[in-house]
Amino acid sequence: MKNDLVNPRLAREWQTMTAMVRIFCRDQHHPDEGLCAECQQFLDYAGVRLERCRFGVEKPTCAKCPVHCYQRERREQVRAMMRYAGPRMLWEHPVMSLRHWLDGFRKAPEI
Ligand code: SF4
Ligand SMILES: [Zn+2]
Repeated sequence: MKNDLVNPRLAREWQTMTAMVRIFCRDQHHPDEGLCAECQQFLDYAGVRLERCRFGVEKPTCAKCPVHCYQRERREQVRAMMRYAGPRMLWEHPVMSLRHWLDGFRKAPEI
């Protein structure tokens, strides 16, 4: 299954993920511009996971997902990024943060 990231719900997920990775990379890796290679690779991986998410537009936030489709190493990577970037998102992207927080109340559909 390939999800359409133009869908508002999935587009929002994508924007949030991209914003968090940018904050993390900017502060931790100080690339000259854009993302460093490692973070770009991570974002590419996250994009594929999102496109293939089995829940489609019904998806919960990944943090509350009962499945967790990320590889173990990637999961640890995303946790570290979220831990750092999550609180900073409130200041840098308050509306996006609020929406993501509200999306966190979605329950995953039965599998
Ligand atoms: S972790 Fe869960 S919600 Fe996130 S992309 Fe994977 S299956 Fe979908
Ligand atoms: Zn980086």
